[in-house]
Amino acid sequence: MCVVAHPDDECFGFGGALALAADHGVETYVICLTDGQAATHRGSAASGKELGQTRRAEFAASCKVLGVGRHELLGYHDGDLQNVAFMEPAEALVCRMRQFRPDVVITFGGDGGLNTHADHMMTSFWTTAAFHWSGQAKRLPDVGEIYQPERLFYLTTNFFIPDRQPPLPSPWTITLNIESVRERKNEAFRQHVSQAPLMERTKELFAKFGAEEFYTLAASREPGPSTQMSSLFDGLDQPE
Ligand SMILES: [Zn+2]
Repeated sequence: MCVVAHPDDECFGFGGALALAADHGVETYVICLTDGQAATHRGSAASGKELGQTRRAEFAASCKVLGVGRHELLGYHDGDLQNVAFMEPAEALVCRMRQFRPDVVITFGGDGGLNTHADHMMTSFWTTAAFHWSGQAKRLPDVGEIYQPERLFYLTTNFFIPDRQPPLPSPWTITLNIESVRERKNEAFRQHVSQAPLMERTKELFAKFGAEEFYTLAASREPGPSTQMSSLFDGLDQPE
């Protein structure tokens, strides 16, 4: 399960991990909290609502390219997640974790990703709470059947965007080689036609750094020192 804030986060940030998981027969589910109405790049949309509709379709097309089995957009207001009452999305996520029963949950870190977007930060906080609460009988006892996912990972980075205040990223515990799915990640991003100027602007950065994605193990069942893993599913039973 991958939880993101905006249509395009799923490919821009997590596309490599999602496509690799699909290639290994892992069922994936992407939950996106907003429909991206507040984006800087607005394509030909005349209103926020129209842009939201366009971006919903782009999100669906991108998920298809990445082999995502299930995708859902929750419809919170883009750019305003910090003002949403905490329990509301947290409960929505607990409900979906208890229903979908993922082994692995991936999301942004508390740094908000490369552009330190507050929506990304809130997504991280809610997903973190939901990950733990999903497995706790005392939390939201009436919301589905208690289920504890195995691992929570945060997306992190080995580079920054020049001329922007950098985030304070977590040290990674996985260097994910995404070379085999790199073109699919790009192809997924191309489905976000309304965000083409963004792709143009970040093209060089991704040409230079795009062969890898970095993740930090933030929670797992086993106590112990952090070690480098080779995949999100190391040591878990998974289909071949
Ligand atoms: Zn975003």
